[in-house]
Amino acid sequence: MSLTMRAVAQFGTPFNVSVIDRPMPTILNGTDVIVRMNASAICGSDLHSYRAASGSEEHPYLYGHEGIGHVVEVGDSVQFLSVGDYVVIPDNFDNGHFTTEPDVYVPSLSSGGVEGGGALPGLQAEYARIPFADNSLIPVPVTDTTNTTTLIDYLFTSDIFATAWSGVTWSGFEPGDTIAVFGAGPVGLLAAYSALLRGASRVYSIDRVRNRLSLAESIGAIPINFEDADPVAQILALEPNGVRRGVEAVGYEAVDASGAIDSGITVRQLINVTAPRGGIGVVGLFSSGQADIDYGAAYAKMVSVSGGIVLPLQVAGEIVPLINSGQAHPGFIVTSVIGIEEAPEYYQRFNRTEESKVVIGF
Ligand code: NAD
Ligand code: ZN
Repeated sequence: MSLTMRAVAQFGTPFNVSVIDRPMPTILNGTDVIVRMNASAICGSDLHSYRAASGSEEHPYLYGHEGIGHVVEVGDSVQFLSVGDYVVIPDNFDNGHFTTEPDVYVPSLSSGGVEGGGALPGLQAEYARIPFADNSLIPVPVTDTTNTTTLIDYLFTSDIFATAWSGVTWSGFEPGDTIAVFGAGPVGLLAAYSALLRGASRVYSIDRVRNRLSLAESIGAIPINFEDADPVAQILALEPNGVRRGVEAVGYEAVDASGAIDSGITVRQLINVTAPRGGIGVVGLFSSGQADIDYGAAYAKMVSVSGGIVLPLQVAGEIVPLINSGQAHPGFIVTSVIGIEEAPEYYQRFNRTEESKVVIGF
């Protein structure tokens, strides 16, 4: 008899996910572990797929790439993890191979997506099989398992806190800098939070969703609503020479003040609002051909621009200790903790920006 579990999936219809039965994962290789999920989350990256016709009847798109749980089974070759250990599952795992050559893309496997093709089944599910577990998982010192606040703080090291932190790093940020963060979704809010933790003198948070701007203001950022007036003009009125640093936390579905999609608007505005010799970290999602920007404008000001997919394993050593010591509480962005059967409704709510961050508790 094969056992089943519940998981979030999409079958090719936009704006429509279902909760389905899936086979429970089992150990396939000696380096695998099986994790019983304690919490997973819905990411802004999931919304890009949700709005598209992801998956199909034959090959459902399986959601979830942010997770925390405890180990319930270990493969024969696993040396450093035991049953009962609490682990964060990063959105990109180690692929088990060290190389001194430049990798074609990132040296990782990722969770979520259509099974096969490099992706593993998603983490919005009751259980997950994690390959190369000794190298891939981030052990965290969870002692009180009823303390959901701490579990959720650690959960975000799997993706969005690591991403936000890296966006600030990639901007070239140093203590005392001013910084503008475009987007006050979960990633943008945590980028503003990271910059404040790291000693920013002033942080501007740009969005048009009032609840999100209020959250940004509650942590000490200066809210800028781009529907009120050009956000560059609003910031330059307060910072005549521009801000030293900027973070893009929106991606290719950025909209203008009228609500129409303009994929390059945030990067163009960041280039315009950043001071000469400043820097911009781009963590919002873009694929080739998706942002129409004036690179010459950045070149003329000697503004550096860097971005890409973030690898949480590379920054876990910086952010996990801040949670361990109680200095960082990235969980402040959560507006709802739900059961997995409520996922279809909460995808809709998150897509309409009625929620800032949704966590699925198991
Ligand atoms: P989200 O969709 O919840 O938030 C995006 C926010 O941007 C929304 O609040 C929206 O109102 C705002 N916005 C839209 N147009 C804007 C504009 N012109 N100026 C300012 N704000 C604008 O998404 P999220 O979870 O916060 O994720 C943000 C982006 O980061 C997404 O593109 C996501 O795919 C990406 N991401 C990348 C990585 C990575 O590894 N690089 C990891 C996680 C998420
Ligand atoms: Zn994500």
